[in-house]
Order: sequence, then structure tokens, then C-alpha cells
Amino acid sequence: MAHLSKVLEANRSNLDHCAQLLRNGDVVGMPTETVYGLAGNALDLNSVRKIFEVKGRPLIDPLIVHFSNLEAAEPHIESNDCVRRLAEAFWPGPLTMVVPKKNSIADIVTAGLPSVAIRVPRHPVFRQILERIDFPLAAPSANPFGYVSPTLAKHVQQTLGSRIKAILDGGPSELGLESTIIDLRNPEQPVILRHGPITESQISEVLQMQLTRHVDQANNEAAQSAPGLLTKHYSPKAKVRLLPHGDTRPRSEHTEPNASTTLVLNQKPSWYTTQHNIFWLSESGDLSEIAHNLFELIQRLDQQDVQQILIEQAPEQGIGQAINDRLRRAAAKLEAID
Ligand code: AMP
Ligand code: MG
Repeated sequence: MAHLSKVLEANRSNLDHCAQLLRNGDVVGMPTETVYGLAGNALDLNSVRKIFEVKGRPLIDPLIVHFSNLEAAEPHIESNDCVRRLAEAFWPGPLTMVVPKKNSIADIVTAGLPSVAIRVPRHPVFRQILERIDFPLAAPSANPFGYVSPTLAKHVQQTLGSRIKAILDGGPSELGLESTIIDLRNPEQPVILRHGPITESQISEVLQMQLTRHVDQANNEAAQSAPGLLTKHYSPKAKVRLLPHGDTRPRSEHTEPNASTTLVLNQKPSWYTTQHNIFWLSESGDLSEIAHNLFELIQRLDQQDVQQILIEQAPEQGIGQAINDRLRRAAAKLEAID
């Protein structure tokens, strides 16, 4: 088996080592509060190319660029008042803003678009790396393209470990879902491109504006202006089938000890005794906890070669919108091959 990159404890000497790798143009697996990222120098074409290569990500799928604060981003973007207000409210944190870019951001980063997606993350390990370097970091999720995003350092090691030199450990990702993406190219009409931990209502409250509904179909205009919003994404090996929220009936196929189908519910069902192949994402049905545990559980089931995952959708409110968005994309694989 190919040599696997080590998972490094985030101590001073390993942080220095990883900062040096980044200066040398290498890419590094790093924790963020959303999911683990595969980071490289956003201002260096070779590093950016390496990110696409390592992930097997198509060049039409633009990258998010991470800065230590809004001031560091400003020389590279056309800012506006909405950007400043949202940065004030949510940065550092899990909100990505799409804004017009300046020439310092190369076309390869943005898939040729005149706009760039920017974020200021709050994970202390990511921030300590940014403090050590004088360039921003392009960092998509550190998973092979199309697979479920990593929420543990070992997920990165298992999938990309033979292709990168280092992975920094920052513990389990606090939020477990990718950032919310808001398009602010037209500040009069902000559009949510991807649901995430910062909810639509939190954003409208800060902007004092209704947001335009996010559109999700691969073949509509908004999706074409934001390549990468592919319907099929976040797909595990197992087939995923969705159940409506609240459909938590026990099914006979899950009570077999060696059943290849598992049932994943939002919360522990009242009928549960000791059945095999039944899982829940939160003891109490708490949405943040469901988000935190979702990708980890799916990857654990994939490791156990579960064939089919029947999964209950979250209520379509708050962060439940983001959870359901990821579930629909995970399930889209099935539609694509059936
Ligand atoms: P991730 O896969 O988590 O790195 O998220 C990157 C996603 O951000 C892409 O797949 C796009 O959907 C979106 N994105 C990045 N850059 C842009 C951009 N310049 N314009 C619109 N959407 C973007
Ligand atoms: Mg991703």
C-alpha cells in the first residue's frame, strides 16, 4: 500500500512545518470548523493546480479562498456594504461570500469566473497557520471529488493520505457541514448558493433584506453562474434513500443481525431496544448535533460496507435546510445510476 501521510498533532513545531510546506507550494490537510480542508497557496498557480489534482476536482469547480480577516481580503476583491456587514456579524465563521475579484486572484481559482468566494474561518489551528504565512489559502474540502466531506483527520488520511505530505489534526469538525455560501455580486439582491451553518434568516436579519431563493437545479441559470453546485455530490459508496422527516417506523429488514441496510434517524426512536443496524444522529433530535454527526456516521457505515442507508430527513428549518440539501445530493447518486 502507498505510504500514508501522518496525522500531525497541532503543536508549534508541526504548525511551523506545515506553514513551510505551504510556502514551498505543497498542499496540507487542515481542520476548519466546518469540515477538513485541503489547503494551498491561493496566489500560487502550481499550488492551486495541485489542489485540483489531489482531489480529482474538475477545473470548472471554483475554490473558496481563506483569509485571516476582511482587511487581508480587501486588496483582492471589490467590496460592498453587505460584505462589511456580514463580515462584522459572522466572521470569523462558516459564511462564504461570493464577490467580484481583482486580477491578483488567478482564473484557475475561480474556474474563470470574474468573482471569487472568500471566507475567514474560525478554527484556531487554521488561524494559527494563516498567522504564519503571508498569503491566503485556497481550501476545498479534503475529500476525493464527489465523496462525503471529512470531519476527522483520519478521514483525510484514509482517502487522500497517499497524495499529500501532511495532515494537521484539529479534532472533530465542530459544525460538520460545509459553509453557507452567499452571492453578493449584486448587493441589491443577495442569493444563497449553498445552505450551511449560518441560516437564511440570520443573514436576512443582518442585511434587513429578503434573500432571493437559492436554486438547486444543475440546468438553471443561477447554477451555471456558480459551477460546482452539482446535484450529485457528497455521495457515499452505499446507496442512500431518503425518508420524510418523522417517518421513523421500525422496518423488519433492520432487525436482522447481518442486514446490509441501515436505518439512520434524527433521534433515538421510542421503540428502540437492541436492534442492529439502527442509528440516530442525536439523542434529543438537536439539529446542530445532527449536522455535527452526519458525515462521520455515513463514512463509518461506508467503512463497514453497508449497502444501503435509509435516512430520515431533518425538519426543513434552520440548519435542517443545509442537512437536507446534503442528503438530497448524497441520494442523487442512486437516481443517476438507476
Ligand atoms: P467547496 O467545495 O466546499 O470548496 O465549495 C466551493 C463551492 O463554492 C463551489 O463548488 C461553488 O459552488 C462555490 N463557489 C466558489 N467560488 C465561486 C464563485 N466565484 N462564484 C460562485 N460560486 C462559487
Ligand atoms: Mg467539497
